[in-house]
Amino acid sequence: MAGIYVHVPFCKSKCTYCDFASYPREIGKAELYFGCLYKEMTARANSLNGKPFDTVYIGGGTPSFVDEKFIVGAMRRIREKFNLTSDAEITIEINPGTLTKQKVEAYKSVGINRFSLGLQSADDGMLTRLNRIHTLSDYLSACELLKGENFSADALIGLFDQKESDLERTLNVIMESGASHVSMYALRPEEGTPIFSNYLNGDLPDEDTVADLYDFGVKTLEKGGFLRYEVSNFAKEGKRSKHNENYWRRGEYIGLGVAASSHVANRRFTNTANIDEYVKCILSGHFAEIFSESVEGDEVRSEYVMLALRTVDGIDRAEFKALFGRDFTEEYSEELKTQAKYLDITDSRICIKPEYLYVQNSIIIMFMR
Ligand code: SF4
Repeated sequence: MAGIYVHVPFCKSKCTYCDFASYPREIGKAELYFGCLYKEMTARANSLNGKPFDTVYIGGGTPSFVDEKFIVGAMRRIREKFNLTSDAEITIEINPGTLTKQKVEAYKSVGINRFSLGLQSADDGMLTRLNRIHTLSDYLSACELLKGENFSADALIGLFDQKESDLERTLNVIMESGASHVSMYALRPEEGTPIFSNYLNGDLPDEDTVADLYDFGVKTLEKGGFLRYEVSNFAKEGKRSKHNENYWRRGEYIGLGVAASSHVANRRFTNTANIDEYVKCILSGHFAEIFSESVEGDEVRSEYVMLALRTVDGIDRAEFKALFGRDFTEEYSEELKTQAKYLDITDSRICIKPEYLYVQNSIIIMFMR
């Protein structure tokens, strides 16, 4: 498996908690940006010698905010230049306040077959407080436009004064709207974002409250037939995100556009997050990488373990042995002793027990050397 990620760095406005590479004031540069993105696609594809890709993820930013002609152009270029498998999963992120029938038709015309909607909360007051541009009614209209399509929705936990009943309402709205997949993320305010001062002032729920909300959310989703397959991701049978699963299996992917990261042939590299710098590099015939490193030896094994333990499938012992030449239980015998109470260990797999998945970082770190 290998994936293609395309970054669209434009949004209508900035949400108070956002630290992604998204630039509301730069939308005037969309034409120039996409011209450069198409050039990068051609150059990257030429360097990959026909490597097959089976997922594409168009994220941002807000890909559904820009004129659909840019997305159509990107998909046409990908199909022309890359070796995309015929059954590829192709996802686009949607802000519910920006979707139209015309856009849905344009996306489908180029083979986009999965949609990811950022609802975040079903409470309009909360959405305003987060500076989201959409309302619950926009979300329901977007779902109407996507009726019969395969779509996912995002929900946030750890919002201002959020109660279990608030989260339950959001999750029920999502589950009743026809979504086949839910991503439920805990809000983790980053320094430099407007919401960080609320966090410092204690206006947001503390960690224990967020953990309780998370447990409640997991139970609510599981009752509705959405099974957790990664700490923040839940899907109906057969509806896991293949693109994300590839990341957690330490698969290869190529990232295109500003701030996009890649992992190819044990090399990880990331493009600049600055649009002007990106454009300048591409127009002068260079890639816009600002970071690049080779991942070798023990680091490969550590990455594999760290990523696999995030998922409910955990470590596949046979795969581990095939990749690294030793049984996981021999290689990590000490760690397995100290962490035993948090783990389910069977003949075929080693995974973090479901009740500890939310605090996985403190367990996974014990396996890092
Ligand atoms: S829509 Fe997403 S990318 Fe855009 S500002 Fe909000 S959180 Fe950031």
